[in-house]
Amino acid sequence: MTHPFLDLAPLTPAHFAAIERQTTSLLSTRQDVVITQGEALLPLEGCIRSGARPGSTALNVITGPYGQTFGNWLRDCGVTVVDLAVPFHTAVTAAQVRDALAARPEIDFVSLVHAEAATGNTNPVAEIGEVVRAHGALFMLDAVASVGAEPLLPDVWGVDLCVIGAQKAMGGPAGVSAVSVSERAWQRFAENPQAPRRSYLSLLDWKERWIDTGRTALPHAPAQLEMLALGACLERIESEGLPAVMDRHARAAAATRAGALALGGGLTPFVHEARDAAPVATTLRTPAGVDASELVAKALAGDPTLPLIAGGGALAGEMVRINHYGPDATQGVVHSSLAALGAALGDAASGTAAAVDLEAARAAVSEAWQRG
Ligand SMILES: *Cc1c(COP(=O)(O)O)cnc(C)c1O
Repeated sequence: MTHPFLDLAPLTPAHFAAIERQTTSLLSTRQDVVITQGEALLPLEGCIRSGARPGSTALNVITGPYGQTFGNWLRDCGVTVVDLAVPFHTAVTAAQVRDALAARPEIDFVSLVHAEAATGNTNPVAEIGEVVRAHGALFMLDAVASVGAEPLLPDVWGVDLCVIGAQKAMGGPAGVSAVSVSERAWQRFAENPQAPRRSYLSLLDWKERWIDTGRTALPHAPAQLEMLALGACLERIESEGLPAVMDRHARAAAATRAGALALGGGLTPFVHEARDAAPVATTLRTPAGVDASELVAKALAGDPTLPLIAGGGALAGEMVRINHYGPDATQGVVHSSLAALGAALGDAASGTAAAVDLEAARAAVSEAWQRG
């Protein structure tokens, strides 16, 4: 008996190349795009191990948990790491990056996360890109949580390595990712004696065996289901239109923020300024005495399909995340998520916290959604 997942025709090099072109077009880039057969941590680690020269100095901007991971990989490569950390409730500014670069002229690599789904903030990459370009460092951007949710223009912004994954705002599969690689970045990789070769982390292998040979033979069997899902998700974005997809995410974030403020009960936006809040996901701080993990569990008991999750690690007790991305970037999901949290909060804090106002939350969500 044939099975739709199992008995697939082989994915041809031409089909693989077509999906690669669709990805290139999503990023409006003229640079090479490498599709990587694993979730986004694979190209992120590949970029750092390829671009970070031992004995060199890198600026690692930390605005959430991923920045911490990058710093560890960089140090592992023998790089001196200058960490620029800002509180997770805010964004880094171009001026902070400029000062950090001016203080250490030898910095030749900068890593930055665009939007942080884990903490709900987003960084002004256009302005930061200008500063990095003026300094001359290679610029790596983790755009996994921004692609599809907000404007992302790697070429215009001078991003040398732009890493994306399909599983957030693109509404696609988690097991495949991509990175755009500038000519400068290829050069840096080629000159780096420590850049991975004959390795799953090697971007140079892909260039040599796929791009430079005219994309006629795949170096190894592609992750077929994920590639087909990536192609399907790119087609779905094309048919809705990327601006419309981004608009849904912007509305979802604005509506969630406004709805949470109107809801009362002590839930407050984790990211202080609305302009620093990421369109991909909204983070909320629970009131004192209300454990975020317990609150989320209670809210999900009524409807386990809602995109609610407690913060990771140390934030598990105090942060709730509403992952209003991909197909969940809708007014209905935003409203149901806040209603479920409001009901759970009413239970959790009965008598102690300020009353929750579900009707006010509904009206605020609807008003903010219309306003866009
Ligand atoms: C989600 C995300 C990733 C990918 O992480 P997963 O392990 O696939 O969840 C990478 N970077 C950022 C900023 C993300 O938000």
